[in-house]
Amino acid sequence: MKKYALVTGGSRGIGKAVCVKLAEDGYYVIVNYKSNKTEAENTLSVIKNNGGNGELLKFDVGNPDDVNQNLGNWMEQNPDKHLEVLINNAGIIRDNLMVFMPDEDWNSVISTNLHSFFYVTKLLLQNMLIKKNGRIVNIVSLSGQKGQPGQVNYAASKGALIAATKSLAMEIGKKKVRVNAVAPGFIKTDMIEHMPEEELKKIIPLNRFGTVEEVAEAVSFLASEKSSYITGEVISVNGGLYS
Ligand code: NDP
Repeated sequence: MKKYALVTGGSRGIGKAVCVKLAEDGYYVIVNYKSNKTEAENTLSVIKNNGGNGELLKFDVGNPDDVNQNLGNWMEQNPDKHLEVLINNAGIIRDNLMVFMPDEDWNSVISTNLHSFFYVTKLLLQNMLIKKNGRIVNIVSLSGQKGQPGQVNYAASKGALIAATKSLAMEIGKKKVRVNAVAPGFIKTDMIEHMPEEELKKIIPLNRFGTVEEVAEAVSFLASEKSSYITGEVISVNGGLYS
């Protein structure tokens, strides 16, 4: 039987690598994106060129109406397709010292990185619970584990997502639905292209930034039966920067 997975923010970076990896693992992948259709189409091409399959689904994860309309419609139109894996990956940064941070940058980061978890997961959760078949992986961050100056908004969103991961895991373990998180350190994507790699890598024990594929491996593990006794856990993929 076909297995279905939804990856939010699948058009670029870590989300793209996760889409490609889950397709290799045998999932039909729903590739969500916000605005970058060309990049999303590219993700789908890579999936198909590797012999996998999937489709695009555009919605803004931080907008409940958009989530309910687009993802809700997809679910109504595909009642036979059980989304058994959800990867909450879409995220943004709006870095600034808190004293200078506009309200808009606080709100947009909390909406996109945290509220999105509630909107998207809630829609899929009921079916996972009824079918007793579901794995949820939230992409959090090193910042949410240890804090980071200039990222009060981002660290708050990811720290809260870690707490939500642990709490939801406790709520639904009996229903055989697992919830875990992956906490990347510095991973080479558009999100951190402005950061000074040569300088920063000196403080990383493995002495380099990570790749999107290295994060996707951890996500794939948590989405698979190989991690069947792991829930409420945070796996760091950070080159030894923090544990
Ligand atoms: P990128 O900026 O490279 O890609 C972000 C992705 O999220 C894009 O696909 C983008 O879609 C999508 N996205 C952004 N906002 C929304 C939205 N409102 N609705 C739907 N999709 C959206 O980010 P990364 O790959 O670097 O980051 C992925 C995740 O990993 C994030 O949660 C981030 O916080 C986390 N992370 C990243 C680290 C890193 O070093 N890169 C470190 C720690 C955590 P579109 O193309 O349409 O804009």
